[in-house]
Amino acid sequence: MSPVEDIKGIGPKTAEALKKYGFLTVKDLAYYFPRDYEDYHRATEIKDLEPGKVVVKGKICQLMTNYVRRRHFSVTSGVIYDDTGEIRVVWYNQPYRIKSFQPDTEYYFSGNFDFKYNRYQLTSPNVISAADVAEHRNGYQPVYSTKGSYKSIWFKRMFENMKMELAKAPDLLPTVAAGTRADALVNIHFPESYQDVEKAKQYLAYEELFELILAAKLNKNENSKLKAEPLKFVAENTKELVGSLPFALTNAQKSAAWDILKDLENDQPMNRLLQGDVGSGKTVVAAIAIYQAVKAGYQAALLAPTAILATQHLATLRKILEPLGVKVELLIGATKKKDDLKKRIKDGEVDVVVGTHAIITDDTRFNNLALAVIDEQHRFGVMQRQKLLMKAGDKAPHLLSMTATPIPRSLQLTIFGDLDVSTISELPKGRQPVATKILAETGMQEELYPVINQKIKEGEQIFWICKLIEETGRSEAANVKKEADKLKLQFPNARVEFLHGHMKPDEKDEVMGRFQRHETDILVSTTVVEVGVDVPNATQMVIMDAESFGLAQLHQLRGRVGRGSKQSQCFLITPGDKAPTRRLQELEKSNDGFYLAEVDLKLRGPGEIYGQLQHGALNLKIATLGDTRLIERAQKDATEFAKNPENMLKYEELNAEIKKYQQLTTLN
Ligand code: ADP
Ligand code: MG
Repeated sequence: MSPVEDIKGIGPKTAEALKKYGFLTVKDLAYYFPRDYEDYHRATEIKDLEPGKVVVKGKICQLMTNYVRRRHFSVTSGVIYDDTGEIRVVWYNQPYRIKSFQPDTEYYFSGNFDFKYNRYQLTSPNVISAADVAEHRNGYQPVYSTKGSYKSIWFKRMFENMKMELAKAPDLLPTVAAGTRADALVNIHFPESYQDVEKAKQYLAYEELFELILAAKLNKNENSKLKAEPLKFVAENTKELVGSLPFALTNAQKSAAWDILKDLENDQPMNRLLQGDVGSGKTVVAAIAIYQAVKAGYQAALLAPTAILATQHLATLRKILEPLGVKVELLIGATKKKDDLKKRIKDGEVDVVVGTHAIITDDTRFNNLALAVIDEQHRFGVMQRQKLLMKAGDKAPHLLSMTATPIPRSLQLTIFGDLDVSTISELPKGRQPVATKILAETGMQEELYPVINQKIKEGEQIFWICKLIEETGRSEAANVKKEADKLKLQFPNARVEFLHGHMKPDEKDEVMGRFQRHETDILVSTTVVEVGVDVPNATQMVIMDAESFGLAQLHQLRGRVGRGSKQSQCFLITPGDKAPTRRLQELEKSNDGFYLAEVDLKLRGPGEIYGQLQHGALNLKIATLGDTRLIERAQKDATEFAKNPENMLKYEELNAEIKKYQQLTTLN
């Protein structure tokens, strides 16, 4: 594929700089799609301007640049006028703007019109001459995201230089999508209308999905060539473990465990996703799998996203497995005498290692790792998972991923085509659904506080979740502490503690431990308790500013209560008395994570939910996974295509492209 240097205007130095942004070839650039388009047909007369994104057509005068020397800063300003009025325009650090205007000439200005420094102004607009719009392109202009010092305007120039190249691009795909790739690429960068863009997007989205699905399919074939240790199923062992549990497994747990135990017997690595709603009891299923590995004479690892969760898993696994003679150890950042522990892991003196990222650091070696369990798998990137899998020497370990964020069917087929999936679709017996109530802040005094007081008296506990205001540690900590102080005044008889993400791991564990032992009544916290924490005696959850959380997140949070046999409640507090959003209403109606995931998918679009989350490195550029019809079509066509192995040889570019995807998704 031709390097970027083939493009006019890109020399060796620029080419080197562009590498950093992943632009190595002409094609990389061609697939850098506009972030947005500006429609210069929709210019507003100055008298009708409203704050926000606007396009104005007018002439400019009174141009000048002021330098703020001390701060190496310049302000270029001017006045734009049309027949109906005038406005101030400002550019920061763009002194060259002055020279770019001809007197008495009309331009289009596109930017943000806002109230700043005591007056309305148009800030740093893009500019295009009215003559250009009239002549060339119907005034429909792409806008590209800035990459370092390369601004939208630079990309536009480069695409001008590449236009001939784009128009010659051969089709990548064998199957006939409507139109050609050449048209699609030209139209996405040089559209004449909104319709052009839509058509181009359809084509390119189809292309992207086709590749993705094909890669997943071929991946599955590829993975099935890898070897793993077969871990023999011995009925007595599993019976022994299950018999020692204080409860009976649900049918759903049994059937998921059975899927896994069978997979482990293969000499091909298992790659299975165990999905089950919060509280459905995934951990014990993992324990059953781990026991099979240990009994077969191998080591197992359980990777959790946070130290709190890892510590809790340690306790659970020890309770279940230690009486059966299994040695379980914790490896997290705060682990003391780490070198000693790592040596014992390497020597095979530890059967099961539970931990966080510390497990996947380079100097952690196993004696004979045969099973890796990843809890809340969407929290880990592809690279991290990959690293864990490399720990098994020349064979691949069996991999069990667990998630409480269910993956809708439509996605399972595509991106996750190379995964086997088991679903725990029922909650343990005796669980009562969490009663959920939306409550305006103003109603707390009357409707919430008495409930809390009563529950504390009855010996139950409360999670109190505050919003995470800023990423900076201090304000998060301050916010949580302030809320805790408020609650101490409100509930003088309650023991109140707080927890936030910026505390030291030790400190967090201590606070969490006290809450678990019921030495605390109310735990004020940020979303650090979101995943996995298990305190069955906590029956009440209050979520402040509920509107500021996503649906999936609220459902996860709510899953922290309702874990015992007592009736639990969740209060979603909304500021003021605004009408609650659809999200909150759905949450009030349903406790079913799978239903809510579908709703979330509809409300937000899957890119947001599954794009980054599920596949760290998988960034869909243009397809949205909500487009099920397109997915189905691509699915059908890719399946047909994959049936004939010679196809991959015939379509070289596609082949190369697929390899890239495969590197990202191998072993998942
Ligand atoms: P999650 O699927 O959210 O990870 P956990 O594995 O943490 O759920 O289990 C939640 C709670 O349910 C734990 O306290 C666990 O001991 C309990 N549990 C698991 N399976 C059962 C069951 N079959 N019957 C009763 N309680 C169960
Ligand atoms: Mg869990």
